Parts: sequence; structure tokens; C-alpha cells
Amino acid sequence: MEKSDIITAPIVTYARHRIQSDGDGVTTLVCFHGCPLRCKMCINPFSYESDTKYTQMTPSMLYEKLKIDNLYFLATGGGVTFGGGEPLLYPGFIMEFRNICPKEWRIGIETSLNVPWKNVEKVIDSTDFFVIDTKDTDPDIYKAYTGKDNTQMLDNLKKLVGIFPIDSITARVPLITNYNTKEDNERSIELLKNIGVKKIDSFKYIDPKNRLNLFK
Ligand code: SF4
Repeated sequence: MEKSDIITAPIVTYARHRIQSDGDGVTTLVCFHGCPLRCKMCINPFSYESDTKYTQMTPSMLYEKLKIDNLYFLATGGGVTFGGGEPLLYPGFIMEFRNICPKEWRIGIETSLNVPWKNVEKVIDSTDFFVIDTKDTDPDIYKAYTGKDNTQMLDNLKKLVGIFPIDSITARVPLITNYNTKEDNERSIELLKNIGVKKIDSFKYIDPKNRLNLFK
């Protein structure tokens, strides 16, 4: 039996034909179930709620579903972006998926990076780009918003910056109503630049109540 038939991960859904929203070209966003954080304005609470329906898939099963868009990916330089939930809870699955999908597909990971370093390290050779939602670099703001400490995230980011192509790391720095301010945002951006991050995406979170749910 192939390794890719043994490893499984819970997949809530996937969204095809996304353009310029999860990386270059046409992409398919795959959402895993499970997340270590509990962000107060989470846009995908289904990704951790216990009553969410998901399918336990092997990498080959997922590849069979996604290969229908091979020509789109090849023609546009797109591929598959793993999100969630937290994709880095499933590094073995992502490694195996990379092994079986065409090498031209670009593989992206949208992550909070708040997982053990060994999970990050495992996917480095299987990943073309990272998009890291840093929330806020202030420990108290981060904890109030996510319920978790941000030390692990910042330590992982420092390590990642040292070994991964810097132009393929984007740090997202959101302005979060009632949790941080423009000044907090600017302080986070400064700290991230000092760590060595070059691509920073600063924006305002939209209250999920006012957002379109793409997965309904
Ligand atoms: S990291 Fe993402 S999926 Fe997890 S709780 Fe926060 S917004 Fe939701």
C-alpha cells in the first residue's frame, strides 16, 4: 500500500476556481478541520466546531477530486492552497499530496503558524509559499483575541524567515475592531520587518456577520 493511502486528514470542503485570492493564478482552496486557536471573529468556525461534517480523505482521494483543474493550474501558474482551520496540523498529508500532484502545481499554506516547529519544518520542501495570519504581535492582544499565547508563532516565524525564500512569505497584519488599533498595527509591522519579513499585507478584518460565506 502506498504511503498516500495510509495518511488521512479531515477535509471540510474545497473551493475551486479562485482567482488571485490564495496565490497566483487559478487556485483551489482546501479547508481542513481543526484549529488550535479560537479567534473571536473567526470567519470559518465550522473548521473547528465538533458537529461540522467533514470527509476523512487520503492525499490520493483529494488529488482525484482536484485534478480536474490541472489545465487551469498549468495555464495560470496556480495550484492548491491549504487553509482551514489549521493546515499545519496535517503536515504528513500535505507532504504526500505534494508527492503525488504534478510538480508544476503551486502549493500554498495559509496558517497561523501557531503549531510545533516540527510541523512547519516537515512541509518546507513541499510548499511554494506561506501566508501567515499573525493577528497581532502583542502577546496580550493576541491572547485576548485567539485565546492562545503567540510565542510559538513568533519563534516559528523567525526560524522560517531564516530558511525559506523571503519573497514567498507573506505576513498578514489585520486591524481587528475592539482588539487592536492602527498604532498596534504599525508596531506589529515594524516588529515583523525587524524579523526580516518583506511582504506584509495590512488590512481590516470584516466582521464575519457581514461577509459572504463562500462555502455555503
Ligand atoms: S486561526 Fe483561522 S480558523 Fe482558526 S480560529 Fe482563527 S480565524 Fe478561525
